This record gives sequence, C-alpha cells and structure tokens, in this order.
Amino acid sequence: MTMPASDVVIVGAGNAALCAALAAEEKGASVSVLERAPEVEKGGNSRYTAGAMRVVYNNVSDLQLLMPELSEEEISNTDFGVYSREQFYDDMGRVTQYRSDPTLTELLIENSFPTLCWMQNKGVRFMPMYGRQAFKVDEKFKFWGGLTVEAWGGGEGLISQLHEAAAKRNIEIAYECRALELIQDDDGIKGLIVKHHGKTKRIQCNAVILACGGFEANSEWRTRYLGPGWELAKVRGTRFNTGDGIKMAIEAGACTTGNWSGCHAVGWDRNAPEFGDLSVGDGFQKHSYPLGIMVNANGDRFVDEGADFRNYTYAKYGREVLLQPEQFAWQVFDAKVTDLLRDEYRIRQVTKVESNSLEDLSTRLEGVNPVVFLKTVAQFNKSIKDQIKFNPTVKDGRGTEGLSINKSNWANALDTPPYVAYQITCGITFTFGGIRINENAEVINDDGQIISGLYAAGELVGGLFYFNYPGGTGLTSGSVFGKIAGNAAGDKTWK
Ligand SMILES: Cc1cc2nc3c(=O)[nH]c(=O)nc-3n(C[C@H](O)[C@H](O)[C@H](O)COP(=O)(O)OP(=O)(O)OC[C@H]3O[C@@H](n4cnc5c(N)ncnc54)[C@H](O)[C@@H]3O)c2cc1C
Repeated sequence: MTMPASDVVIVGAGNAALCAALAAEEKGASVSVLERAPEVEKGGNSRYTAGAMRVVYNNVSDLQLLMPELSEEEISNTDFGVYSREQFYDDMGRVTQYRSDPTLTELLIENSFPTLCWMQNKGVRFMPMYGRQAFKVDEKFKFWGGLTVEAWGGGEGLISQLHEAAAKRNIEIAYECRALELIQDDDGIKGLIVKHHGKTKRIQCNAVILACGGFEANSEWRTRYLGPGWELAKVRGTRFNTGDGIKMAIEAGACTTGNWSGCHAVGWDRNAPEFGDLSVGDGFQKHSYPLGIMVNANGDRFVDEGADFRNYTYAKYGREVLLQPEQFAWQVFDAKVTDLLRDEYRIRQVTKVESNSLEDLSTRLEGVNPVVFLKTVAQFNKSIKDQIKFNPTVKDGRGTEGLSINKSNWANALDTPPYVAYQITCGITFTFGGIRINENAEVINDDGQIISGLYAAGELVGGLFYFNYPGGTGLTSGSVFGKIAGNAAGDKTWK
C-alpha cells in the first residue's frame, strides 16, 4: 500500500520536527509529518518540558522582540541581565569539556535568537521564566544562570502553538504512523516504509528529515550504550523515543558520532512511574539541591551540591544518583530555604518527609543509615564559611571547608525546623550519542559524504553534548537544527 507522496517527509512531531515542517513549508515544499504516538500523546519529549529555551540576548530590547507582551512594570521590576554569545560559548565549552562539535555549536549559538524570533513570527509566544530562574533581591527580580525565556504555557503550550501553526499552513500529521526504514538508491533517499495503524505502507518523497528523538526510552539500548544499571533509570518523558531514527539512519549508511555513553539525567522522584506522565510533566524533577544537601543510603553526601548554578549541574547529577547504593538519595532542607524551593516541590505526587527535629527526621529517611546521617549533618553544619553572606542569585562562595566533599556555594547550616526531605532516583531525559550532520543538517555517511535527501534535527543528532549540558539547550537545538533542515530540504526539493 502507498501513502500520498510529498516533497519532504518529517519523522516525529515534537519541537524539532514541527520547526522543520514550518521551515520546509515556507520554502514552498509539500510537507507531511509522521508521528508514532497516538494523537493524545503527541509532542514527544518537547511536550513534557517547562519550555525553557536558552537564547542569546544583549539587552531588554532583544527580549522585547521575543516577548512583545513584556510590560513596563515587569521591565522596571526586573534585572534581566544579558546572555551574550560569548557566555553561551563559554557555557557550552565548559560543561562539555570542550568536546562539543565547533560547527554545530556555532550554528546553535548564532542562530538561537533569530530562530526564536522566527518561531515568534510563526505564532509561538514566549515569556520570562520568573518561577524558576529568578529570585527576588531588594524588591527586584534578578535572573541567574543564563536562562530567561520560556514558551508560553511550558512544553504543553509550545507544542500546541507549533501544532496550530502547522495546521494553519495545512501541514498534515499522520498519527500512529511509525517510520521503519528508509528507501534509497544510488542517487539518495526516495521514501520510507512505515507502519500506519498496523499496516505496512510505502511513502515516496524527495527528502526525509529525521526528528524522532534519541534512545532514552529503550532500556536494552540504554544498557548496551550507557552501561549496566541504566536499565534501572526512570524515563522522564515519552515512551516512544526508542532510537528508531538512529537505527534507520545507520542502516542507510549514516556515520555515528558524539557521546554514545553519555546522557542527560536528573534527580527524579523515587516513586515516579517508568515513563513520563503528561499530567505531571516535569514535576517529578527535584532541582533545588543547591539550597540543601543530598545523602545516600549510607548517610553520606556524594556530590558538591553547590558546584555551580543548577542549570550547569542538574543534567549530570542524575548519573551520580544512579551510581549510589540502591540508586536513590534524599535531598534535605531546613525552614530557612523552603520558600526558595522550586514549584516542583509543591506537587501532590511527591515522596516527602518532614520533622521538627533532625533526630526524628533521620529515622524517617527510608533506607538511610540514621547514625551516619546525623554525623554528616553535624560535620556539614560545623564547616560552613558563615562570614560570607548567602545569596542564591550569584555563586556566593559561601561554601564548606575541610569535608571530604565540600559544598562550594550556598551552604547553610541545617538548624531551623521544620526540616523537609525528598527522595529521588535517576530520571533519564535524553541520550547524547547520535548521527553526524553537516552545517545544512544533512546526514553524513561513513565516508564523509552527504546522504542525498536525508536530514536530521533534535535529540538524535550527535556531537553537541558531552558529559553534561547547559539547561534549556535541547529545545533551542531542536528549533535551530529543525529550521536549518527544513530550509535545506525545502529548498532542494522545490527547485
Ligand atoms: C521532563 C523533561 C523536561 C525537559 N525540560 C526541558 C526544558 O525545559 N528545556 C529544554 O530545552 N529541554 C528540556 N528537555 C529536553 C527536551 O525535551 C528535548 O531536548 C527536546 O524536546 C527534544 O526535541 P525533539 O523534537 O528532538 O524530540 P521529541 O520532542 O521527543 O520528539 C520526537 C518525536 O518522534 C516520535 N517518534 C519516535 N520514533 C518515531 C518513529 N519511528 N516514527 C515516527 N515518529 C517517531 C516520538 O513519538 C516523538 O513525538 C526536557 C525533557 C524532559 C523529558
């Protein structure tokens, strides 16, 4: 059976795919989108996000272009700072230990602002991320950590606005349509074989853009590539990103690249389900650990909770939690900082204990050695450089000294009841290894040549992230490379 032919077929219907679809349509190509999930589960990982997007801006005028609804009152009450291209380069270099592909990094950073402006023109609204990336200092909100912009309505809002933009341009999306195999001859890609509502079909096209995610939801591949133990991680988002795009591309000759044993993984509620839950979204994450301490089953701390702003540590600390005995940890805070905890600490589906004394709390931390825990807290409390003032909007240097694992910033004694603790495990977000693309998002084969007609964008592109990741870059990368792929594929097939 054959489905109608299009110039460009896009595999997936998350953020990268829809940006690719809008860009290809803009070039005059006929476009169709294939999505493996049923319509109710549409949107891939992109829908589970907070919609946070890392973008270069040099002043408030840039932000006003992205967010024309920014009010005079917000502008006068807020210190937005700047996030320069140099800062973005520094962040990408530092957190990836300078392994990130220079061409892809440059494309990502230089296109971040123009791409978000383009999305805004297509109907995506943005707003400042007051809830998670700003603290109030002297009656003024101050943004920290280079992450200021989020899509209106979070990931849910982003996906519905992108879908609306696609529908307005008559871009059709086939749901429950799983791409299985690429069809190619010596001249390049000619189409795909798919399973649509259980029936195998062929689709003819001139170009395919793969934007169907990494392999985070495939426990067998996780164990194979990330290593033993990764089958035990919970999946934060969609159950459909099982590596199909990577597999199809490799079978078509694509070259693999990037940090195949690396991934983005965070602290995630110990009792969260195996895959993401759209009604909770990213609420199972617990990212305020820089304000407290984390202990494992032995009662010991195991990372520097204050090594950097959470945006630069959260994506690698999930792995640290997975490595602990029984793959769990407790985050502990006292009453001095509970007001500063992020909104995800106030959801109903949370594994939390509370007590008015540390002794009592120690018996409530399920699975933890209470004697060692109390000793850990006592030593921590004694070692704080408390002559330095606590300030969560900068790296305040209020650390500890003399501990086997010091905390570098934001150290406060745990001495003010009530104490609260949250149990976490490792939640995997997405995988870093993938397929190699060039500056036009064209897929490159093992001989370094272009596979004519094959493009890729989003999570399944390898080479951008190694070891760690600066928060808010996944969506921006999907948008930037989705648009580049759509432009290139649309141009080529239309002419
Ligand atoms: C809980 C959570 C919170 C996050 N928060 C943020 C954030 O705030 N900011 C940020 O930048 N990033 C965030 N991320 C990361 C971000 O979601 C991803 O980097 C980004 O959304 C990836 O976009 P994508 O389009 O590549 O993939 P996806 O959005 O996952 O889309 C891939 C699509 O492909 C479909 N698919 C898979 N296989 C096939 C097939 N064979 N045929 C057809 N379709 C297929 C899937 O069903 C899916 O819809 C978060 C992720 C999670 C899980």
